[in-house]
Amino acid sequence: MRKNIFVVALVLLVALVGCAEHEHSWKVISTTEPTCSVEGENVFKCEGCGATRTERIEKLAHTFGEWKNSDDLKTNTRECSVCHETETRDGIVVNPSNAQELINSVNTGKVYFTAGEYGDLSLTHSKKVSTAKVTFTKEDADVNNLNDTTVYDYYRPIVDLELIGGDGVVIKGSFICNSGHCYGTKDNVITDPIRGTKIDSTNNSYYSHISIDGLKIEGLSLEEGIIRFDTYSLSDATVKNVTIESCSFIGVSSKDTVDQAMSFRTGGHALFENITIINSIVEKHCIGFYGQAIQNLRIEGCQFDSARNGMQIQNVGDYKFNGSVVVKGNIISNTYDRAIRFGEGNDATIAIENNTFEKAVDSDGELLKTQTLTNCTYSFIGNTYNDVPMDDVSGSDSSWVVTISTEEV
Ligand SMILES: [Zn+2]
Ligand SMILES: [Zn+2]
Repeated sequence: MRKNIFVVALVLLVALVGCAEHEHSWKVISTTEPTCSVEGENVFKCEGCGATRTERIEKLAHTFGEWKNSDDLKTNTRECSVCHETETRDGIVVNPSNAQELINSVNTGKVYFTAGEYGDLSLTHSKKVSTAKVTFTKEDADVNNLNDTTVYDYYRPIVDLELIGGDGVVIKGSFICNSGHCYGTKDNVITDPIRGTKIDSTNNSYYSHISIDGLKIEGLSLEEGIIRFDTYSLSDATVKNVTIESCSFIGVSSKDTVDQAMSFRTGGHALFENITIINSIVEKHCIGFYGQAIQNLRIEGCQFDSARNGMQIQNVGDYKFNGSVVVKGNIISNTYDRAIRFGEGNDATIAIENNTFEKAVDSDGELLKTQTLTNCTYSFIGNTYNDVPMDDVSGSDSSWVVTISTEEV
């Protein structure tokens, strides 16, 4: 009983105090507008009791101009036209008119693409670089055999280079990363990038050896274009730790058999190592991804639509794919040949997981097929075909095929 009285008294007290207060009626009495360097504020006053309070207004965004490169091509900076504050980041910025000569000038670090329409681009020695701010010299290019032969070897090491696109960055051509023998003809004279000499035949020509250890290509839209890595038969032209992320490849036709949106090809002496393709989109190319003799490949979260094959994971003669091959969470649709063709593998662990296949079989109903696998294992989990779970694989660890029955097609 005593307890109940206490509760009633407490309720009455709260009600009385509430009555004593009034609801403030705030009105703005002064405003300081914010700028991009100083916060603003609104001062409010209660029309009833005269109390005041202040509310901060966030700074405005800076009005930055374009990014500009430092003279040493190590950083790029932009400045606010209002308060002159600057922002600096590592790497260089390129635009459609200077992209190629600047890419010729850097072997490491970040390259930011500004929005615009770009033509063909390449990572090679086959373009003249003397107009670039940093030119390759005999010393830093590692020129061999300068005096005792008429054919030279130039070596370009690419280490941890990032090519960063974004909204509005469109490449209307190809991105080629090429090693091999470079020479001109009478009709197509090229310039030696190191010596500056003209080459109109194989005399005085050169071999371009591009070795890559760490290259990330991110956010580029290639219209009708491809990204191709070609090592030919140069044994030191190795390509490893390459990632292609959030890129799109919108082609025009899936009929042209040499049209491979992402292509890793070797003459047979070099291995590609640790190749990752992630969150990218391919439409209307003959083959979405084509790779020869890759050690450790991951293709994840990509869409391949209207290609002849979504992927071809191949060998070149005795050079077979090997290591970890992960094909996960991709959507492969509307192929007129198999979704994925595997060539010969050796010592590979193949994981085909959580992929969505839609209308992606050849005329025999085959969806996936391997050639001879040696010492390989596979897992096949969580995939669907036209929304139907399809985790059955017929074959063995040494070769297998996935065929969709006619009812499911
Ligand atoms: Zn008040
Ligand atoms: Zn500012």
